[in-house]
Amino acid sequence: MSAHYQLKPSIVRVLLPKPFHAPFDYFVPKESFVEVGHYVQVPFGKSLVWGVVWETNVLSTLPEHQIKEIRSISSLPPLSPAARKLLEWTARYTLAPLGSVLKMTISVPETLKESEKDFLSNAKSLDIKPSLLNHDQNFSATALKEAVAKKEFQPFLLEGVTGSGKTEVYFEGIKEAYGKGRQSLILVPEISLSAAWVDRFIDRFGITPTIWHSDITPAKKKKAWRSIVNGEASVIVGARSALFLPYQNLGYIVVDEEHDHSYKQETGVVYHARDVAVMRAQLEQCPIVLSSATPSLETLYNVQQGKYKHLILPERHGVSTLPSVTLVDMKKVKGDKVIKWISPPLKEAIQKTLDNNEQSLLFLNRRGYAPLLICHACGHHMECPNCTTWLVYHKASQMMQCHQCNYSHKLPSHCPECNHQGLSPCGPGVERIEEEIKTLFPNARLLIMTSDTLSSPKKTEASFKKIHGQEVDIIIGTQVMAKGHHFPFLTLVGVIDGDMSLGGGDLRAPEKTYQLLYQVGGRAGRQNLPGSVLIQTHTPEHPVMQAIQNYDHKRFLDLELESRSALKFPPFGKLAALIISGKDPSFLEKYVHEMARQIPHHEKVQVFGPAPAPLFKLHHWYRWRFLIKTEKEIGIQKVIKYWLDSLSIPSTLKITVDIDPYSFT
Ligand code: ADP
Ligand code: ZN
Repeated sequence: MSAHYQLKPSIVRVLLPKPFHAPFDYFVPKESFVEVGHYVQVPFGKSLVWGVVWETNVLSTLPEHQIKEIRSISSLPPLSPAARKLLEWTARYTLAPLGSVLKMTISVPETLKESEKDFLSNAKSLDIKPSLLNHDQNFSATALKEAVAKKEFQPFLLEGVTGSGKTEVYFEGIKEAYGKGRQSLILVPEISLSAAWVDRFIDRFGITPTIWHSDITPAKKKKAWRSIVNGEASVIVGARSALFLPYQNLGYIVVDEEHDHSYKQETGVVYHARDVAVMRAQLEQCPIVLSSATPSLETLYNVQQGKYKHLILPERHGVSTLPSVTLVDMKKVKGDKVIKWISPPLKEAIQKTLDNNEQSLLFLNRRGYAPLLICHACGHHMECPNCTTWLVYHKASQMMQCHQCNYSHKLPSHCPECNHQGLSPCGPGVERIEEEIKTLFPNARLLIMTSDTLSSPKKTEASFKKIHGQEVDIIIGTQVMAKGHHFPFLTLVGVIDGDMSLGGGDLRAPEKTYQLLYQVGGRAGRQNLPGSVLIQTHTPEHPVMQAIQNYDHKRFLDLELESRSALKFPPFGKLAALIISGKDPSFLEKYVHEMARQIPHHEKVQVFGPAPAPLFKLHHWYRWRFLIKTEKEIGIQKVIKYWLDSLSIPSTLKITVDIDPYSFT
């Protein structure tokens, strides 16, 4: 029935991109017609807001005079049923308000205002450079192409050592989806990765993919959003936020470097992009590829359970081989008094690499000069006034900086506590390694690569150019250097502190360390020149170090799975964290203990806490944590919802629910 003939205007429910769990009722204007999924603009409070029609033909319980009328209706295609279901699933899973999830879809509301015409360019045919796949690559590519052609939900784990051609293989699926007129979504973990990725894509296919991440300009964002919603964009490469865009006919999803922890969004809607991507593929009924050299335990477990198909590329492509790995036992070299951070074996290896006119990468995941400054007279540590952290000393800028909240001030000449002159740096950061390298190799050309020095795409590009042009001998870098990059002349990777990420109360610490060391080591010897990796460690006997040295991923995983199974940790049980924060520490402490008295009792649910968070103070907010552990068959969300519903949470406190937590700070 058309709205023209109705006596009374019909009522619809409109979901708004605001932190509400439910949609609101609105009248449809006379002579207008709306369907579920349409973008509409409605009055809300004192302003006009774009939302999405969630339900039609509604019998409202509100008195008529309280119901306002839709102001305008966008002519863009409606949000698809699969996309709407994804939003509902995400809200249920993360316990975030449905409207907050929608906000990730309507990320460029300005573009809905305009009644601009979309000039659809004629679809270009791909100008594909032929690539001769090797036997293993061909087997995997065929499986992907078949799945894309069938348009069935099927998750794949594409596991292959670094440089084995995983990208080449999943490109084949894009080709297939493109040929069928369907959209492909490629998720990548880091913005820095996408520049190299895009160049390679253009080189291969002759078309430019649509790029989506938080740093693109508003104009580009608008253009990208429209081309996605009207179906013009055929290949979209983006960061995790690209997952919630209004695709019209998604036919293929890739999650590159699926193990990467930056896929977990920690603020706002707390979700893991890999997991939501698998759900999106299921709702869209399309295949999804999780690609990695070091797959996450969760994904491998799904392979073991027969849920995911396993595609394996066991060797590097061509003549390139995996680098040799040597552990340097730092307990044994400690006696040498000339050594600060570079052990004799590492020094020797760097010298050899210099002599061969090849490049070295020294990896230390710590920006600045020293992680803290101490007064030798009174023992005072320089702390951030806003956070429970030490201030990091940046020598180049002569600043003390908090890496949590970015607070910074000039380096003081005297101890603020006892006025003693001169504070001593403790431990190394990349700048301090640079200093030592300068004294050891005065003629070597150095380059520091951290988020400080690669603060813009331009600077990043310039640095990469220098490396490719062999204008650099030794690169000193943090984790920004660990991933994805391909430098043909880089043959030595030296890890300054292999043990750095092993400590702490993180259940994934061994897994994360393994992945990081493997990835950074994988930068060595990627072309024709053989590579080697030296890892300085105080615990060479640790299972992680042994696995890295012997390329024995399988044994390491079995050990990890065993220990997680014994403790019923994920993937054998469910975990969630509640973080309660407030500005008044004593009020907060009282409240979290009150909360503890309302903890739901169930034999299959364990609640630990409340405990002060390791990062107790963050940007002026004090933080307490609960950890909830349940057996797998229990809906952990229900338990938490039941608990939270039984509380009246003061407006001065913030509660963050983190299902499947990755961060334990
Ligand atoms: P991964 O993604 O597994 O790290 P890549 O796909 O980046 O590996 O491949 C590593 C290098 O080997 C790249 O330079 C790529 O172009 C090259 N390569 C991989 N497979 C082939 C192939 N079949 N033919 C030609 N070059 C290939
Ligand atoms: Zn701070």
